[in-house]
Amino acid sequence: MKIFIAFCAILALGSAKRLFHNDQVLRLHPTEGQRDLLEKLYETFPAIDFWTGLRENRPVDIHVPRAFLGPVKVFLNRHRINNEIFIEDLQKNIDQERSPRPEQMNLASFDYNVYHSFDEIEQWIEDIAGTYSIATKQTFGTSFEGRNLNAIKVQHLKYTTGGSKPAFVINCGVHSREWVSPSTCVYTVKYFVEAKAGSKEASILDEMDVYVVPVSNPDGYVYTWTDDRTWRKTRSDNGLDCIGVDPNSNWDANWSGLGASSSSCSDLFYGPSVMSEIEIVSQAGFVASIPNAQAYIDIHSYGQYWMFPYAYTYSVTEDDAFLRAIGAESVNAIKSVHGVSYESGAFSTVDYQGSGVSADYFYDKQGIKCSFAAELRDTGRYGFTLPEE
Ligand code: ZN
Repeated sequence: MKIFIAFCAILALGSAKRLFHNDQVLRLHPTEGQRDLLEKLYETFPAIDFWTGLRENRPVDIHVPRAFLGPVKVFLNRHRINNEIFIEDLQKNIDQERSPRPEQMNLASFDYNVYHSFDEIEQWIEDIAGTYSIATKQTFGTSFEGRNLNAIKVQHLKYTTGGSKPAFVINCGVHSREWVSPSTCVYTVKYFVEAKAGSKEASILDEMDVYVVPVSNPDGYVYTWTDDRTWRKTRSDNGLDCIGVDPNSNWDANWSGLGASSSSCSDLFYGPSVMSEIEIVSQAGFVASIPNAQAYIDIHSYGQYWMFPYAYTYSVTEDDAFLRAIGAESVNAIKSVHGVSYESGAFSTVDYQGSGVSADYFYDKQGIKCSFAAELRDTGRYGFTLPEE
């Protein structure tokens, strides 16, 4: 722990952008019964950044800073944990994930095939709401550092009066380093606002209203652009050793249970109290205020999973057959467009057992039956540094 704190202190003193030259991402192939060893690895080397959950019988990807590569490899080999180098030089990946370009601060120059900064996305939200009558900007709070928490409501004009249609909430950018997530929400809005009357896309809005939150953890997202590309958490200062809380461990859904961490320096830190994060409370209130919210999806990366409750237990929900059917149709639909395979199933069995997860919260506490969490591309070759193209 001391080494890690010293490491953080050096970073803080320098206040320069964190660089990852010759850091590696290793893929581990733990066998049944090696979970304890993974936990020992995690405790022995707090500087290791787990890019996937700790789990057996599935690959586990770890980002190892250059200084720790030697001892970590000794540990893995001594304990016979099969491993391979997945990313040889993390900084190279980061340098190659996006091309330099001028800032895009208007709709005419907005390129949907690139990653965008928070400022660009905020301006884009203004422009979309100002340009398309079916889109409305809704600000539902401010982040710890004072940035707007914004949603775009997309609603067919034909139905603005009368009863509420079912609402579908699409949430992105929870974990700030998962850049493909905000991009996906931004593209989803484009898909609806540019749909021609009478088209298949437009007809979706005959059935439902759609609420899209492109960047639900804005402070973390900005930090990944300015300081540390691998930052996952919020940026709240709770007076503890380390900054930030895992925004997908903080929800009132078996909070502080298995799969989340009590250590403020962990990427899985569940927070000083349940729903401690202003971003989480604001979002819970926002979704609760939406009339007739019936579907929710939380978009993450990576791993290519399409998941439903529960995360915190292996027990299935009473809607398991229904959710399983939707999951299967969803992954078939994805495959039919790009030929990319996703795996669908309950969060705890497909990915890892986790507590304080938003999909569980909305299912259990707000009665949103169609509650999902997705892990977008890829399966780890690039991980969080998925190139724009
Ligand atoms: Zn995530």
